[in-house]
Amino acid sequence: MTARILVVDDIPANVKLLETKLAAEYFDVLTARDGPEALRIAEDQLPDIILLDIMMPGMDGFEVCQRLKDSPKTRHIPVVMVTALSEVPDRVRGLEAGADDFLSKPVNDIALFARVRSLLRLKMMTDELRLRQETSGDLGVFEADHGDDDNPRDARVLIVENNETMADRLARYLGESGCKTDRAATTTQGQVLGRAGNYDLAIVNLHVGGEDGLRFCSHYRSNEQTRHVPILLLLDDLDLPQLAKGLDIGVTDYLVKPVDRGELLARVRTQIRRHRYHHRLRLNLQESVNMAFTDPLTGVYNRRYMAAHLDRKIMEIATAEKPVSVILFDIDHFKAINDTYGHGAGDQVLKQLAARVSNNLRSFDLVARYGGEEFVVIMPDTDAEIALRVADRLRARVADEAFRVEPLEVLLEVTISMGVTTALDTEETADALLERADRALYQAKNDGRNRAVSAELGGPRESEGALISIG
Ligand code: GH3
Ligand code: MG
Ligand code: MG
Repeated sequence: MTARILVVDDIPANVKLLETKLAAEYFDVLTARDGPEALRIAEDQLPDIILLDIMMPGMDGFEVCQRLKDSPKTRHIPVVMVTALSEVPDRVRGLEAGADDFLSKPVNDIALFARVRSLLRLKMMTDELRLRQETSGDLGVFEADHGDDDNPRDARVLIVENNETMADRLARYLGESGCKTDRAATTTQGQVLGRAGNYDLAIVNLHVGGEDGLRFCSHYRSNEQTRHVPILLLLDDLDLPQLAKGLDIGVTDYLVKPVDRGELLARVRTQIRRHRYHHRLRLNLQESVNMAFTDPLTGVYNRRYMAAHLDRKIMEIATAEKPVSVILFDIDHFKAINDTYGHGAGDQVLKQLAARVSNNLRSFDLVARYGGEEFVVIMPDTDAEIALRVADRLRARVADEAFRVEPLEVLLEVTISMGVTTALDTEETADALLERADRALYQAKNDGRNRAVSAELGGPRESEGALISIG
C-alpha cells in the first residue's frame, strides 16, 4: 500500500526521523516546518495522511488540525497528532479539533505503521466512495454541513465486554451523551446482536472473558451486515503487537484503560461521524444508480435500462434456447384524460397503471416506461402464444377496474392497446423487435383500441373463457 504522507514538525531532526522510517517502507513523504506551510501543502498536494506535531511556535497543531477539518478540500485527510503530551485533556482537545489518532514521541514503529495502514485503508474507501459520487451525481449536496452527524444522539452502540462493571460504566457514559447501547457478555451474543442491530459503532474488549476479541472483530468485518460498522477496541494496557493486529484486521480505533470519559466520547463521536458520512455516501450512490435506471414518475425502469436488458435477453437465447417476448403498450386517448382532469390526474394514472401492470407479472419480467404514455414489458422464456395471453390479461386488468385519482370524485375508465412480438434467435436486434411490436400496436389502435395484437399471431379471440390466438 503506497501513499503520500505529510510530516509536520518544527524540529528538523524529528522530521528527518519520521521521513526516514516512512521512506524505508516506500511511502512518499512531504514535509512542512510550520502550520501555515503544512496548510499550503495540504491544499496543493492533498496528501493521504498527515502526521502533525502539536507544539509548534506560531500556529500549533490543534489549530492546524482544526483548519484542515474546516476546509472541504482537506476535511477527509486523516490527521495523526504526534506528541510528547500524553495528558488526557490534550488528547480530548486534539480529538475535538478533528484528529484521528495520536502517536507519542518517541514514535514506536509498530504503532506508526499499524496506524498509518489502517487510516490509509479508510481513506481509500472514502476516496473511492467520493469518486463514484462525483461520477454519478453532485458531490456538493453531500459536502454540505451535516452538523447533526457530530452529535452522537440516537447513535446505537454495541458493547461487547464481559466485565460488568466496565460495561456498566461505558453504557452510562454513552447513555449520558444520548447514545443507545446494547450489551453482549460473550462474542457469540455479540455476533447475533451485531447482525440484527444496525449499529453505528461496536466497542469490543480485546478479551471477552476467555474469548479472543480480535476473532470477533475479524468476523464482524467479514459479515455482510456488520462489515461497515466501525469497531473501537478496548485494551487493558498498550499492547502494541495485539493492537497492530487489530488495526490490520479492521479495528478502526482503540482506547486504553482506565477509560477516560472525555476521551471515550471524543473517539466515539469521531467514529460515528465518519460512519454516518460513509453511510450517506453509500446511500446516495445507491440512489443515483437507481435514478440512472428508473423513471422518476412511475418507479419502473427507464428506456435506457430496458434497451440494455433486452439486448442481454436476446443474447441469452443462444444458451437458454428460450424465446423472449416483448409487449409495447400505449394508453388509449390519454390526451383526453389530461385535457379533462388535468395533467396531475394523468400522472396519477401513469403511476397506478405502472404499478398494476408490474403486480400482474412474474418477478423476472421487466416493466419499463418507454416514453410519455407508452410502456414496454420484457418477458424471458415466453413464446408468442403465452405472450399474447399475458398481454390480454394485462389489458383486462387495466380495463376492468377503473382508476381512482385524488381528489376527483369520479372513477376514470382507462384502456390500453398492446403490440406483442417474440424473438426466437440471437440474430434479432432490440430495435427490430420494438419496431415489430410498434407495428402490432398500431394495428391494435386501428382495430379499435383496448386490445392486444401479436405481430406473429394477430389478435386473441375470446372462447369459452379461455383465450386462443388466431393465425
Ligand atoms: P391514442 O389512443 O392514439 O394513443 O391517443 P392518445 O391521446 O393517448 O395519444 P397522443 O399521443 O395524442 O397523446 C398522448 C398524451 O400523453 C399527450 C401527452 O401530453 C401525454 N403525456 C405524455 N407524457 C405524460 C406525462 O408524463 N404525464 C401526463 N400527465 N401526460 C403525459
Ligand atoms: Mg396513447
Ligand atoms: Mg402515444
